[in-house]
Amino acid sequence: MESKLKVDRRTILTGVAALGTVTFLPYAARAASNRWDSFPTVSGEIEVYPVSHASFVMKTPSGVVYNDPVGDPSQYADFSTPNVILVTHEHGDHFNLDTLNAVISPKSMLVVNPAVFAKLPSGLQSQAIMLANGDTYETDGFDIEAIPAYNQTQERKKFHPKGRDNGYVLNVDGFRIYISGDTEGVPEMRALTDIDLAFVCMNLPFTMDVEAAASAVSEFKPTYCYPYHYRGRDNGTQDPNEFADALTEAVEVKLGGWYGG
Ligand SMILES: [Zn+2]
Repeated sequence: MESKLKVDRRTILTGVAALGTVTFLPYAARAASNRWDSFPTVSGEIEVYPVSHASFVMKTPSGVVYNDPVGDPSQYADFSTPNVILVTHEHGDHFNLDTLNAVISPKSMLVVNPAVFAKLPSGLQSQAIMLANGDTYETDGFDIEAIPAYNQTQERKKFHPKGRDNGYVLNVDGFRIYISGDTEGVPEMRALTDIDLAFVCMNLPFTMDVEAAASAVSEFKPTYCYPYHYRGRDNGTQDPNEFADALTEAVEVKLGGWYGG
């Protein structure tokens, strides 16, 4: 698996500059190594490290957050153990018990929806916070709200039935981060307010296409938005650049390199 997660693009930029190359080359190096981004907040930087598809790590002033950690645990080896692990729902590209057991520490707070809670062994249940749609949880440095995530197109409702799965809004010292989970552009997403950073899924047949995602994101207008979880089945893969083009509001799109690109 990828082991470039800790590549520091500032190091690359410095290295390229030292060679005295023409000025556009640093940007090429930066695009190729765009493995993480940093976002300023009142209490410090939030760094986002896409791992793959729906999985990512955030370093925040309040601690380290893993979202939907799945896959080879070595992908997380360069990161500190998580203070918070968010699991949106039970599907294999979001929840894997082996990965979870490998990355969690006894001090990690595990946040799950009720259906995932029911699938946890008792040891993990004892350190899990179960949030149903609409529930909130306040802890040191993190305020967490569970946002409904579901399909509203008739033929897709079987994938994510309403009421089961979560998205999350994570509030870190007033910086509000929305993680969509697997959903369409449902009213609860469109009604979000004051989102600084959003992660929004788009693929078919499981979630939505770029037009639907762009419509919803244009309504709640986050400052920054990562299209994520955008590879799909058959012809269901969505193009994050098409998503960016379809936005009707000023939202800064972050691409992130979710699939090793
Ligand atoms: Zn799913």
